[in-house]
Amino acid sequence: MKRLKSWLPVAATADFSIYNFPFGIGRKPDGTTGALSALGDYAIDLHYLQQKGYFNGIDLPNGIFDRPVLNDFIALGKQITGAVRQRLIELFSEDNSELRDQSEHRQGCLLPLSDIDMQMPVHVPNYTDFYSSIEHATNVGTMFRDPNNALLPNWRHLPVGYHGRASSIVPSGVAIKRPQGQTKAPDAEFPTFGPSKRLDFELEMAFVTGKENTLGQPVSTAEAEDYIFGFVLFNDWSARDIQVWEYVPLGPFLAKNFASSISPWIVTLEALEPFRVAGPQQEPQVLPYLQYEGLRNFDIHLEVGIQPAGSEEKVVSRSNFKYMYWNICQQLAHHTVNGCNLQVGDMYASGTISGPTPDSYGSMLELAWKGTKPIAMPDGSSRTFIEDGDTVIMRGYAQKEDIRVGFGEVRTTVLPADA
Ligand code: MN
Repeated sequence: MKRLKSWLPVAATADFSIYNFPFGIGRKPDGTTGALSALGDYAIDLHYLQQKGYFNGIDLPNGIFDRPVLNDFIALGKQITGAVRQRLIELFSEDNSELRDQSEHRQGCLLPLSDIDMQMPVHVPNYTDFYSSIEHATNVGTMFRDPNNALLPNWRHLPVGYHGRASSIVPSGVAIKRPQGQTKAPDAEFPTFGPSKRLDFELEMAFVTGKENTLGQPVSTAEAEDYIFGFVLFNDWSARDIQVWEYVPLGPFLAKNFASSISPWIVTLEALEPFRVAGPQQEPQVLPYLQYEGLRNFDIHLEVGIQPAGSEEKVVSRSNFKYMYWNICQQLAHHTVNGCNLQVGDMYASGTISGPTPDSYGSMLELAWKGTKPIAMPDGSSRTFIEDGDTVIMRGYAQKEDIRVGFGEVRTTVLPADA
């Protein structure tokens, strides 16, 4: 891959490098909200650049970047969105003088990231959550069923998933309230109502779709990536005590639908190209509609930190997106094989991404093993689940030699149920 360098100073450890150019929506210092990209410590005002003619030659509608969400932009298709990203790479490359030597325009389009209030990048019509990490599914099966037969009979034959709640997906920085609900202790005769005592995070990534298929027309594994615009980090908040009581027989409901938190920048599939890797060997062989060719997993480092109120953060998990047993093409092919139609802006979350070692598990349920192995915090307290006042931070980045593409973070503080 061609080595790139920007005329704008960008730290070697920056998530938003010249190889990235993610897309997001933010409120700018002048109070308006619009589409942005990012480089180093700066947001890039795409509406401003379009108005000044820097995207001339790309078939973009007027005002496309002056809208409250990215759905219309994404729906233009990869040829257009990819051309915008390529143009940004060109404009900010060190040997390109167009913007570099135009100080008024340079200052007009570069906004310090610290001055931007990031919003939801898309309107999310539909949200699906898969269960595609074999390590996570094995851990949960071991804890709640049979250690010698942890995976349910369907698990290796299809990417298990459920339809989640789109309306409660919120961006990084939005605090959530501890949910209340019904729980029942194993030895109790009746359930009780109150705040969840086992609030958990789930470390996930989600892909955002940018193209629709007609109802009744499946999307194959070979076509799937045409429908995928990019990725965000995804925290699938889960109330374990509510979940264990309510989930039989139809699966997650109120234990999950109170909130999910995402990182606000969508990193495009194009930016992740250098980080493709092979997925795990699948045994037994999957049905023909789930078979695929090529490298469909991505080597993306992930971590989760917990920061108690008034204290310092502790990283409690380091995992990687490459561990996924079922890849995004298989997930999308399975989701549509019955004819289900995708919509622009949909989010498809991976399921908890656990790695093979205990320090790489993607939820407190697994890290503290059902409450039996408390995790020590820097302030002397310990955690088996998430406490009121805790902030949970997820980060992700891919790196190959000096090419780094990162996601930033999703940071969420948990407020008391009566806040
Ligand atoms: Mn989940």
